[in-house]
Amino acid sequence: MASSAACIFCKIIKGDIPSFKLFENDKVLAFLDIQPLSRGHALVIPKYHGSKLTEIPDEDLSAILPVAKKIAAATGASDYNILQNNGAAAHQVVEHVHFHVIPKPNATEGLGIGWPAQSTDMDKLKALHEELKSKM
Ligand code: 5GP
Ligand code: ZN
Repeated sequence: MASSAACIFCKIIKGDIPSFKLFENDKVLAFLDIQPLSRGHALVIPKYHGSKLTEIPDEDLSAILPVAKKIAAATGASDYNILQNNGAAAHQVVEHVHFHVIPKPNATEGLGIGWPAQSTDMDKLKALHEELKSKM
């Protein structure tokens, strides 16, 4: 199991830093976020240490979403976001992969989202489609 001595979330996994744990199994830990955007804001993390999504083995990633689903249901929220940031420019602060479960009870609490949609056209989309498909 990959882990990093300097990583704050690896310390939480080991119990060296306390947390309000909501769920734990051999691959996943979930706990309350210490600076919540709304009531019930929680983090679901793989026990495998990696900074970005692309570094985490599929079997560890597969174990994450069912836990996020349980937490979302437990909060009772009808509206919520699942958020996973990769890299500082994408608002990642803690460099251990984590999925946020963020209830959205109203317009002011929870996640605020900017959505700067760009214009494109069918030719550009077609070329991009070919490129990405060829690399998958
Ligand atoms: P990011 O911006 O990296 O996606 O979000 C990191 C999240 O981790 C933040 O929401 C922050 O409040 C949370 N966080 C950072 N340090 C701790 C900690 O020591 N304990 C807990 N429970 N949450 C933390
Ligand atoms: Zn870590």
